[in-house]
Amino acid sequence: MDPVTGLPVVGMVGGGQLSRMTQQAAIALGQSLRVLAISPSEPAALVTPFVSLGHHTDLDALRAFASSCDVMTFDHEHVPPAHLRTLVEEGFTVHPGPSALIHAQDKLVMRTRLQEMGVPIPEFAPVTSVGDLVRFGSKFGWPCVLKAARGGYDGRGVWMVASEAAAESLVPELLAAGTPLLVEERVAMTRELAALVARSPFGQGAAWPAVETVQQDGICVEVLAPAPNLSPALAEEAQDLALRVASTLGVVGLLAVELFETPSGLVVNELAMRPHNSGHWTIEGARTSQFEQHLRAVLDYPLGSTEPVAPAVVMANVLGASIIPSMGPDERLHHLFARFRDVHVHYYGKEERPGRKIGHVTVLGTDMSVVRARARLAADWLSTGVWPDGYDIHGGR
Ligand code: ADP
Repeated sequence: MDPVTGLPVVGMVGGGQLSRMTQQAAIALGQSLRVLAISPSEPAALVTPFVSLGHHTDLDALRAFASSCDVMTFDHEHVPPAHLRTLVEEGFTVHPGPSALIHAQDKLVMRTRLQEMGVPIPEFAPVTSVGDLVRFGSKFGWPCVLKAARGGYDGRGVWMVASEAAAESLVPELLAAGTPLLVEERVAMTRELAALVARSPFGQGAAWPAVETVQQDGICVEVLAPAPNLSPALAEEAQDLALRVASTLGVVGLLAVELFETPSGLVVNELAMRPHNSGHWTIEGARTSQFEQHLRAVLDYPLGSTEPVAPAVVMANVLGASIIPSMGPDERLHHLFARFRDVHVHYYGKEERPGRKIGHVTVLGTDMSVVRARARLAADWLSTGVWPDGYDIHGGR
């Protein structure tokens, strides 16, 4: 309890942009969010007065941090499950709890559980030898998708394996490095979707409309909300599925369900139990943002309305460019604001590096293709400082 405000204190493990944006929501709610960061230069540590420095794999650091707050939650999945179980045994409140969170930490555990629940998932198998992968590839066809069961993110830890020969050269190396592996059939998807929901300890659930996510090299670069031309039946199915997974697994806080849309229906790819890139659009695009909702959920407050505030909302991530832009970030922002008066810009306080997520933009409107084009232009401009060939630089609003 914060003795000044009389409000309970949430502690978030991890000092990345998700924590940073949670801090923005915490400010409005009068919350004194605490953050466990590795270094004072992390995005959230830069903007939070109550920062504990420590590593999320250090039990003593986690315990000291948990002692300073009423509820502990996360901006990533990398806290060792055994540490979380210890903290729960010692009486600390951890949301989501370790028995739920493990499904976002270990892809084999997640796949096995979803299969038991009858949720549509790709064919999969654990891989502990080259033979396991070769047998799977011969049965379900090449290429197949080899994944690190733990520790991957943004596509790091995902390998498309084209043939038996490729399997033979890749698997021994990964196993020697101690990487736990599974293989999945390559799903013939038409696109990727995400369903974001929140669940409170009381059992209340809330779902935002399902969105389309656009990935490039394993990194989410665009989110279209709601997913354009998604049939109402599939849109409802995505929300129901995510709510069912949240309640069956006992998730408290946010749950993002990453989905593949295929000609024969939805297939679950991945679970995340925290604010998620697919939900950044909710900051300006929905009545309640994912960051506020996560705080409400872990504090067991009633959840807020998930209603969108515009017919079309697009979030585009700003990635560090591969070539250093000739114009500095300040000047790029200046030009962006001059041309796109309604674009919402979020920067994460990070240094620009090629391919790194350094921020995002959000655009609201009525026509999805117009909104998407404007978000794309704005994000690319902030990234590269270059307008595309033929773009009328006076054409922005
Ligand atoms: P990460 O946990 O690193 O984000 P994911 O499991 O989400 O990894 O996979 C990253 C991307 O790889 C997905 O967004 C998708 O584009 C592709 N992918 C993953 N699994 C499959 C699959 N079974 N079939 C086809 N593509 C896949």
